[in-house]
Amino acid sequence: MKDYALLSANELKQEFAVVKEEYEQLKNLGLKLDMSRGKPAPEQLDAIYEFYKETEKDIVFKAENGTDYRNYGIFDGIDEAKELFAEMFEVNKENVIVGGNSSLNMMFDILAQAMIKGMGGEPWCKQGKVKFICPAPGYDRHFAVSQYLGFELLQVDMTENGPDMEAVYELVKDPLVKGMWCVPKYSNPLGITCSDETVKKIAQMKPAAKDFLVMWDNAYIVHDVYGEGDKLLNLYKEAEKYGNEDNILIFTSTSKISFPGAGVAAMAGSKKNLDLISERIKFQTIGPDKMNQLRHIKMFKNMDEVKQYMKVHAEFIRPKFDVVLKEMDEKLGGNSIASWHKPNGGYFIYLKVMDGCAKRVAELCKEAGMVLTNAGATHPYGIDKTDSGLRIAPTYPSLEEIKKASALLCTAVKYVSCEKLLSK
Ligand code: PLP
Repeated sequence: MKDYALLSANELKQEFAVVKEEYEQLKNLGLKLDMSRGKPAPEQLDAIYEFYKETEKDIVFKAENGTDYRNYGIFDGIDEAKELFAEMFEVNKENVIVGGNSSLNMMFDILAQAMIKGMGGEPWCKQGKVKFICPAPGYDRHFAVSQYLGFELLQVDMTENGPDMEAVYELVKDPLVKGMWCVPKYSNPLGITCSDETVKKIAQMKPAAKDFLVMWDNAYIVHDVYGEGDKLLNLYKEAEKYGNEDNILIFTSTSKISFPGAGVAAMAGSKKNLDLISERIKFQTIGPDKMNQLRHIKMFKNMDEVKQYMKVHAEFIRPKFDVVLKEMDEKLGGNSIASWHKPNGGYFIYLKVMDGCAKRVAELCKEAGMVLTNAGATHPYGIDKTDSGLRIAPTYPSLEEIKKASALLCTAVKYVSCEKLLSK
């Protein structure tokens, strides 16, 4: 396909007529597709359930020292689970808390506690209007949590190496800037992994706020899809070199390893922070779901086993990514109307279209029966000023559905681009 930017007005009109026809045909299929949320597909859940079922057989919910995991207690997670997550995070077991079913829940709690109780200093809410750095495009629920807690959201750009650290360094000079979000590996939604240099800059950072928190949400820590996957430098160890470990909190969960909503979440941090957080957890719960923690340990005894399972996981995801990427290559490749990054893992592909076109593309897709994540949701306050980004979540629909969905998406992008170029 010739680049639209090189077409004459007449050629563009002809192309628009063809694309419109293509779109009408797809619309007439009466599609019902959902590419809006990064969820595992039912067959992927069936596969993991086969492993899970086995753990129910002959399981004894007891620790080696006889502690009965069916009863109350052990508010910060069972030892076996701490060991597994310590291996995953590449930190010591003493630096890990294992919680309930959701890492987002842990993140919310910690920030809510920081607001009302502080992080070793004055409660954040007493210090003034709290501000939080939000690399964008980013995870909509991070922004939603921050907004809900009353923070002012400070947008910085996500570059191909991670957050724009020059902008971050400028912002952290303000003591009311209390933290930043970052999805460091296969970021939601860009699919990029922070470079070593970015990780080092975050580790070395000396924010004016002594109670600053880097919310390092490593949700896609083992979610490689292509080849060996990306390598991410260990932020915690780097931060320790500069005595900055109290500024780092790391999160993950098995939501997209085992079951979303029925997995196990964990966090890692310094002794100072974990002591503080542990004290608070004691008021929140008499103990997490230790039986589920143990079932997960029976499923994956160590990181080698997690990695083995994640190879199975990749077999489900890769063909879906392949279909979307192939369709985009064929229909939009070499055309300046769109660009994208091919991620090596994670759950998303991010499509950049011409400025001012993303909402219209999502609208056309919706009219033809396909739901996409709201254009703009990937930015603080739901506003993408350039209106140019679309998050594509291809993991849930079936392969057949993805084929139709990507055809519709590419046609809608061409449709809207023709419209825009012809309106000039
Ligand atoms: N963090 C990121 C970056 C995510 O993409 C998601 C889910 O999509 C979550 C956290 C939610 O994790 P959990 O299920 O552990 O709450």
